[in-house]
Amino acid sequence: TSSLSRVPRAPPDKVLGLSEHFKREKSAKKIDLTVGIYKDAWGKVTTFPSVVKAQKLIESHLELNNNLSYLPITGTKEFQENVLNFLFRESCPQFGPFYLAHDRVSFVQTLSGTGALAVAAKFLALFISKDIWIPDPSWANHKNIFQNNGFENIHRYSYYKDGQVDIDGWIEQLKTFAYTRQSENNKNPPCIILHACCHNPTGLDPTKEQWKKIIDTIYDLKMVPIVDMAYQGLESGDMLRDAYLMRLCLDVEKYPNWSNGLFLCQSFAKNMGLYGERVGSLSVVTPATTNNRNSNLPQQINPLQQNIDSQLKKIVRGMYSSPPGYGSRVVNVVLSNAKLKQQWFKDVDFMVQRLHYVRKEMFDRLGWPALINFAQQHGMFYYTKFSPKQVDTLRNQYFVYLTGDGRLSLSGVNDSNIDYLCEALEAVSK
Ligand code: PLP
Repeated sequence: TSSLSRVPRAPPDKVLGLSEHFKREKSAKKIDLTVGIYKDAWGKVTTFPSVVKAQKLIESHLELNNNLSYLPITGTKEFQENVLNFLFRESCPQFGPFYLAHDRVSFVQTLSGTGALAVAAKFLALFISKDIWIPDPSWANHKNIFQNNGFENIHRYSYYKDGQVDIDGWIEQLKTFAYTRQSENNKNPPCIILHACCHNPTGLDPTKEQWKKIIDTIYDLKMVPIVDMAYQGLESGDMLRDAYLMRLCLDVEKYPNWSNGLFLCQSFAKNMGLYGERVGSLSVVTPATTNNRNSNLPQQINPLQQNIDSQLKKIVRGMYSSPPGYGSRVVNVVLSNAKLKQQWFKDVDFMVQRLHYVRKEMFDRLGWPALINFAQQHGMFYYTKFSPKQVDTLRNQYFVYLTGDGRLSLSGVNDSNIDYLCEALEAVSK
C-alpha cells in the first residue's frame, strides 16, 4: 500500500470551510456572515476608491505596470520605507522614530498578516522559544500557524468572561506560569499573541488602563509580545488612533528595553481591502545593545539587527523566496501620495461608519440580554456567544451562516436582510 495512505484527514478550516458550504446552499434566504471581508450596503465586496485610483496610476505608469521581475527576498526598499513610516512615524509619532533612527527594526514584506505570523513563528521557534500564549478564544488560525511552524507548547490565556475581557484571570495565569518556569529553571522566554485592536472573535479589547497593566506584566516577565495588527482602523475609523497598543509598547520611558524583542505582524487585507493580494509586514523591534543604547547617533550599525535580518531572509528564501509584487505596489502608491493617503483614511472611516450603523440597527431591533455587551464591541464582528448547537440551528433552519464559535460578520448585514436576520437570531436565542 502507498505510504500516502498513512495521511489522516485534517478537519476543514473553521471559517473557509463554511464559505464552501454556503456556496452550495440553495435557499434564497441565505446570509453569509462567516468570513471577515467587508461588503458594502448592497452586499458587494468593493474596492476602496483610494485603491482604485492607485490601480489607475499603476496602469498608466508603463514601468510599474510592466515590471514582472522578482522582488527582493524581504520586499522592496520603497515598501519598507513607506510601511515603516506609516507604522512607526505616523502611527507612533512619539517613540516610533527613535527605534528607526537607531536601526532597531528588522523588516519583512510578508504574505499578509498570516505570512507575517508564520515567518515570526518560524524565526522564534528556531532561535528563541517554542512556547506561546494565545488568547482563548482567538482567531482559530493562530494555533495552526504556530503549531505548523515549530511551536511545541501552545498555552491559552483566559480572555473572555461574563461578557467582558478577563483581565485578572489573564494576568494571574501568566504570573503563575512564570513562577512555575522559574522553579524549573527554564530560560526560554515564552511568546504571547496580543490582538492590537478589534479582538477576533469577541470584538472586545482591554481599555488603555487595562493594557498598561497587561503590558507591565508581560514586560516584567520578559515575555516576547507578538502584536497581531490585522484590523488597524476598524475600531475607531481612525487608522492612527487604533495603533494605541503599539504606542504603549514602544514607550521607551515605560518600557526601556524589550530584552527579547517585540514582533509586530501587520496586514493591509482589511484596512485597504487587499485580501487576495496578500500584502502585510513583519517588524521585529530589537533590544538595545551596548552598541546602540543611549546613543544619539542615527543610523549606526546595529549588529543584532543585521543578524536578525539575515536569518529572516534565510527563512523567507526557504519558504517562498520572495513576496508578490502587485499588492505592494498599490500600497506604495497609496502611502506615498498625500492625496491618496488622505482618501484612504476617509475610505476606512466610511467603512467603519457603516459597520457602526449596522451594529446600532441590530441593537435597536434586538436589545435582548444576550446583547449585553453589544455596544462595547467593535470592528467587523459581533460575538453572539451562541452555542455550537444554536449556530447549527441558525444555519439549518434559517440559512444564516455564522462561524462555529458564534461570531457574526457585520459586513454581511444590510437593509435587505437585517429584519430577517434579527428575527432568526431572536428565535434561536430563546
Ligand atoms: N490575525 C487575525 C486576528 C485575523 O483575524 C486575520 C484575518 O482574518 C489575520 C491575522 C490575517 O489575515 P490576512 O492573512 O488575510 O492578513
